[in-house]
Amino acid sequence: MKRTKIVVTIGPACRSRKLINQLVKSGMNCARLNFSHGSYAEHRQMYQAIRAAGKKYNEPVLIMQDLQGPKFRLGEVVGAVVLRAGKKVVLGFVAAGDHETIPIDFFGIGKCLRVGERILIDDGKISLKITKVLKDKISATVVEGGLLRPRAGVNLPDSRLDMSVLTAKDKRDLEFGIKLGVDIIALSFVHCAADIKQARILISKFEKKYHKIRGGEIGIIAKIENQSAVSKAEEILAVADGIMVARGDMGVELPAAQVPIIQKRLIDFCNAAAKPVIVATQMLDSMQEHMHPTRAEVSDIANAVIDHTDAVMLSNETAVGKYPALSVRTMAEIIKVTEDSGYDDLPDFTVRKKGTAVDSAIVELSRLLADRVEAKVILAASLTGETGRMISHLRPEMPILVATHDIRIQRQLNLSWGVRPFILPVCKSIEELVKKSMQYIKKEKLAVKGDKMIVVAGEPVGEAGHVNLVEVREVI
Ligand code: PGA
Ligand code: MN
Repeated sequence: MKRTKIVVTIGPACRSRKLINQLVKSGMNCARLNFSHGSYAEHRQMYQAIRAAGKKYNEPVLIMQDLQGPKFRLGEVVGAVVLRAGKKVVLGFVAAGDHETIPIDFFGIGKCLRVGERILIDDGKISLKITKVLKDKISATVVEGGLLRPRAGVNLPDSRLDMSVLTAKDKRDLEFGIKLGVDIIALSFVHCAADIKQARILISKFEKKYHKIRGGEIGIIAKIENQSAVSKAEEILAVADGIMVARGDMGVELPAAQVPIIQKRLIDFCNAAAKPVIVATQMLDSMQEHMHPTRAEVSDIANAVIDHTDAVMLSNETAVGKYPALSVRTMAEIIKVTEDSGYDDLPDFTVRKKGTAVDSAIVELSRLLADRVEAKVILAASLTGETGRMISHLRPEMPILVATHDIRIQRQLNLSWGVRPFILPVCKSIEELVKKSMQYIKKEKLAVKGDKMIVVAGEPVGEAGHVNLVEVREVI
């Protein structure tokens, strides 16, 4: 059984129920609906197919809505325009038919940019240097040339853009996603903690509007993909529910050589805060076209697991690639082989998250006990999911079974390393918790009669907040 979770981007290549079923069977734990692309009708259809597949295979698939954020793109470039180094060009927010100007979907472009700053197009393949700024147009010199693709992404790594993290499109998309019932929101191009707080206010407004009976709250994953977010990662993480190491834009906004080290730092921050972290982008890039990954891609996934990420993500491989299910299976296999080695182990089981002293002590003890008595599983009851995440960040060898009464919390826990969340109505006593969980343990064949297990809970059971009990039990 693999412990590291897999996030799969859903796109045109997986638009059939059959394929969605295959993705779940192959190891998808979280489905990412990417709102940079696709229509509402398509997202809705996929949402329903994912929910159905999750039920069918008894996998609490978490659905993540990824908002586009303030990302600029070129407009509809007409014909094959090739830019050559040294050439002067003009960019602007223009109507179709202006063949002199390269169209960009950035209203008020002249207000935000300065002479000397870089404009990077298409993942940085083309780069320009700004020479002149007018009201709604800018002139630039081509530094590195190339073919302009319509709707190619544009990065402005040197510019200070005073823009809200949620564009008008994001707000509409967010309302749609919340109405639909997504479990977690990924916010693109966050700059600072205030961006997360702002989004949270809007999320709770839409939640109240569409869901009268509220379960666990919708979580927020901060996508770290620019210099500002990298330098403020810890304060962002303090108010977010997790982080995505968004290596695609990060490798354009910052020197790509820094990305591996930033990845390690961000994973460390998340582990220390006991919050989930996702390593994203180009993990199996070549599998868009081919049935086998490159050796470098295999190493990249293995190393992310060894870095102690909670989850790894597939993007174009599954969204527009030729082999979506095979990509997931390949990723799962790499994870499995890596986890079977000792290289991903975490020998130190000191809780780094500063919870209440009792919480941390109990959780530390659970891992110590589990190792010493060679327990087959750790069972926890968690009302908010927090206890499950705390145990997860200690990376115990055995499955972490987390009983929760709330379906959204169950799904959200499916992003945390090694956690197998299951639904159980709130129990009145530890006795009841153990007894009822036994059914799940037996059904999933996780332990047999006589095996040891560790129970982590709070008493009185059902009272949110504190964990104050750890016990060794025998499976009956
Ligand atoms: P994107 O985010 O795929 O939405 O751009 C991930 C990344 O930038 O790596
Ligand atoms: Mn991105």
